[in-house]
Amino acid sequence: MTTQDWVTLDRKHCWHPFTPQDEWTDLSQTPLMLESGKGVWLKDTEGNEYIDGNSSIWTNIHGHNHPYLNQAIKDQLAKVAHTSYLGFAHPLASELATRLCGFFPKNTLERCFFSDDGSTAVEVAMKMSLQSRLQSDQPNRKGFICFNNAYHGDTMGAASLGGVSAFFDRFAKLGLPITRARCLQDLHALSEKELSQITAVIIEPIIQGVNQMTPWEEGMLKELRKWSENNGVHLILDEVMTGFGRTGEMFACQHEDVTPDFLCLAKGLTAGYMPMAATLTTEGIYSTFLGSRENTFYYGHSYTANSLGCAVAMASLDLFEKEQTLKKVQGKTKTLSLLLEEHLAPLLQVYQIRQVGLIAGIELREKDSSPFHQELRVGNAVCLEARKHQLLTRPILDTIVFMPPLAISIEEMELAVQAIATSVQAVTP
Ligand SMILES: *Cc1c(COP(=O)(O)O)cnc(C)c1O
Repeated sequence: MTTQDWVTLDRKHCWHPFTPQDEWTDLSQTPLMLESGKGVWLKDTEGNEYIDGNSSIWTNIHGHNHPYLNQAIKDQLAKVAHTSYLGFAHPLASELATRLCGFFPKNTLERCFFSDDGSTAVEVAMKMSLQSRLQSDQPNRKGFICFNNAYHGDTMGAASLGGVSAFFDRFAKLGLPITRARCLQDLHALSEKELSQITAVIIEPIIQGVNQMTPWEEGMLKELRKWSENNGVHLILDEVMTGFGRTGEMFACQHEDVTPDFLCLAKGLTAGYMPMAATLTTEGIYSTFLGSRENTFYYGHSYTANSLGCAVAMASLDLFEKEQTLKKVQGKTKTLSLLLEEHLAPLLQVYQIRQVGLIAGIELREKDSSPFHQELRVGNAVCLEARKHQLLTRPILDTIVFMPPLAISIEEMELAVQAIATSVQAVTP
């Protein structure tokens, strides 16, 4: 088969996520067929190579085709690929749960519930929060607080918490009682009565991803933790994007010494190898599910705690230690700031550069700082152009995302940042 054959089959039978299919199947735009990878590089079926500039949609950590991660999967595969976690346990899941809880102070996050992806990690936290209220004489606490422009996934529950109207508006009326907030001040303005009906507040800590990579003010998370404790509201941290070193700490909440009531992990958990998620919670919340069969958390999926996923997640945590990944990220973060400053900040079309750790958003606007017309789809055009300069990434509106695997080298970062600069100038002269 040739690339063209695969493209024809794709156009005939496949349906892509979050994708206007009539544009996708437009004959003038041939999709890239990615076939293999090594380190931060991906190769298409025509033999072209590209830097994976958004870590394969924010998942990859140590690079592709990493020998140590590959071996961990092969070793597990030689034993068994998957066994039911419903009614049975397995060694790697016991070890992984212990290791994840071990990142947090004693008597805080002590329980780990596995699921499949970021959306289900959030769904689990929501259901646990709601059900724990019913089982601790607080049935009125049914509402959630979430922040404007947030993204927490796309299953019904998780989507109800989202703040991107294109994704949730048509489902919002089917959803849960949601209070939307712009910032902490909005929470302080809630009445006693409103507060008494809230079960949890959910936030992407330190930086919102889908909201064009927008960091929160320093100290905000610590304040939110205080507020939630004072008001008996659960704090759910969605670290699906920020987890596993992206921000320079293992978890973003560690920047402000905050431990939540629920922590949602996915994308980087398996270093971008397997779909798998975990929701961590406290013994206090767990205890409300004890004492009666009726209190059981009736939730789970067929592939819960998949053995291959656990194996590669464990191996990824090994690599963080062996390769001193976090320490290196701190150095690379400084280098990335310098590169962005040197190559992108001087361009008149670059309105703002936002960076936390190895997550960067480069927002483009007209030279007079007014946003580009959305129909021009400038961000999209820049990312298409960047392919010619060996960089793959996706924009969010007119913000170019650069969020490489943590394993990226200085030379590769430089190549990628130059590719963005060249492409911005080619598209918006
Ligand atoms: C990607 C993402 C999700 C959803 O994760 P999926 O694995 O796509 O279901 C949830 N929250 C945040 C912050 C994300 O970035």
